[in-house]
Amino acid sequence: MRKLILMYHSVDGKNEPAVAGSFPLPMERFVAQIEGARQKGWDFAPLSQLGRQVERDTLYVTGDDGTVDWARNVLPWCEEQEIPTHTAIITGPWLEKPIYPTAHRLQILLSMPGRELPIPELSKGEIEYIDKAYYYETDPRRRYLKGACNLIFDFEKSQSLLGGVSDDEFLFLRRRFAAPKEYKGYEYAEFGVHTVSHRAMDKDVNRYMDEEISPCLSKLMQHGLRLSSYFTLPMRPRYGATVRDLIDPLKKIGFVGVLDGPGVWDQSDFVIPRIDCMQVETVLDLEGSETA
Ligand SMILES: [Zn+2]
Repeated sequence: MRKLILMYHSVDGKNEPAVAGSFPLPMERFVAQIEGARQKGWDFAPLSQLGRQVERDTLYVTGDDGTVDWARNVLPWCEEQEIPTHTAIITGPWLEKPIYPTAHRLQILLSMPGRELPIPELSKGEIEYIDKAYYYETDPRRRYLKGACNLIFDFEKSQSLLGGVSDDEFLFLRRRFAAPKEYKGYEYAEFGVHTVSHRAMDKDVNRYMDEEISPCLSKLMQHGLRLSSYFTLPMRPRYGATVRDLIDPLKKIGFVGVLDGPGVWDQSDFVIPRIDCMQVETVLDLEGSETA
């Protein structure tokens, strides 16, 4: 039987407009994907049951980052439809002194008029690495800012490139991530670790476990959310690092898999690729893919 894990982020809908600077999927298209898959005979199961045998081809719906548009448009609808979801949560925004992900700050800043961010200086090797990772960003300013912030610079250096959080940026940031209480009361929703700050992993795996993964897990437990044992890698690993370095440390504290990268899962690897939401109609051979 086939098992496909679907990956979503921002979803634009009537309950909540898409968050600033994101590349949202319209809710109508999300609904059409789920209903289309159902009509084609696909089952849906919670990600926490990914390792179990299935009797029919099965889909696992996952959404990253826990932005308010995902939480308010998708989760209630899926609950009503009894479609299990898995939300990978960043806990930095929940801290008393919030930590906001660089990637999200950048999305907001690039969408705000009048904020001309400088293109950073990069070596030839770094540029090549960025070109590979962000080939789909055709605007060089977007590509190299994203590349430098997300893949090359450490958290401090990238935050200093972006400068301090201005009042208007703060307004966007504060309302961007759903609060813990918004995740309560669901029967079909489960949640997983997506780090504290959403920074990319580097070669210092122990530090990454201690600063990003364990505290995120504790925070989710503290709020009593229904947890999966799957970690969702937030960004491509930094230059020189690989997701495989995380396998043993993750296993040691009880994780059973890490979601990372695009593709079809071979049903055995600890590293689990997903189908991007923009590819769902094509991969599942659904009607109307060209008009969606
Ligand atoms: Zn993410």
